[in-house]
Amino acid sequence: MEKGKIMDLEVENPMITGEGLPEEPQEEEILFSCDLCHQEIYEGDSYIYYAGDIFCSSHHLGEHLLNHGLAETRIAKRKVFH
Ligand SMILES: [Zn+2]
Repeated sequence: MEKGKIMDLEVENPMITGEGLPEEPQEEEILFSCDLCHQEIYEGDSYIYYAGDIFCSSHHLGEHLLNHGLAETRIAKRKVFH
């Protein structure tokens, strides 16, 4: 695993039909759901992809990392040298 790289930000490339369809309201299809809050992610939405999991936001990726011990909350303290 690459150190210092904690997440892959991937924006789903919408399927390109190349047919120049006029913009019509279409029924949105749920493609994924957030692994943390299960919010639906529709075609064209951006989402966060990390290690095979999908999240609606980087915030929820952060919570996932904390929940799984992949990241931790620390308290900032000044170093004491004596
Ligand atoms: Zn979420």
